[in-house]
Amino acid sequence: MMTRGPLSLILLPTLLCDADCEFCIQKKTDGQLTHDELSVVVRKVVDHMVREHIETLSVYRQGGEVMTPAPEWFEEAHGIIGEAVNSGRRRVEHFVQSNLIAYSDRRDWVLAQMFGNSVGTSMDYPGLHRKLKRGVRRNTTEYGRGMFERQEMPASKSG
Ligand code: SF4
Repeated sequence: MMTRGPLSLILLPTLLCDADCEFCIQKKTDGQLTHDELSVVVRKVVDHMVREHIETLSVYRQGGEVMTPAPEWFEEAHGIIGEAVNSGRRRVEHFVQSNLIAYSDRRDWVLAQMFGNSVGTSMDYPGLHRKLKRGVRRNTTEYGRGMFERQEMPASKSG
């Protein structure tokens, strides 16, 4: 039988964000998707895939900022999605877009297991418009340098 797909699902687990970019068009709200809600969504999606003979689900995680929820939230979400997809004998591939501000090695398991160590991000060097929260209006140059230092990578001399 012919199969179609993949089916793309843009999943926003939260609209919270830890940045305050001047160019942001996102309407930020409190709260995040619960695991129960995620389970309902994914089961409905898998039911649709089975009906429509769609083999593969591509889940694109965006926000808000997807690293606002704790890594444990993603581990459980990973299990929920995997279980639903397996029960329908479908395949799933995961993609993520993050500003990486909240990245630490606590996230490594999730990034490796779910996303194959691949993360989409953007930096607006020289970075006059992306701002961090917490009352400090730092620009992207400082934000990027901070991230490189956390990863023990050399920051660019030009910022
Ligand atoms: S990182 Fe994205 S969602 Fe967050 S404030 Fe900046 S543009 Fe908006």
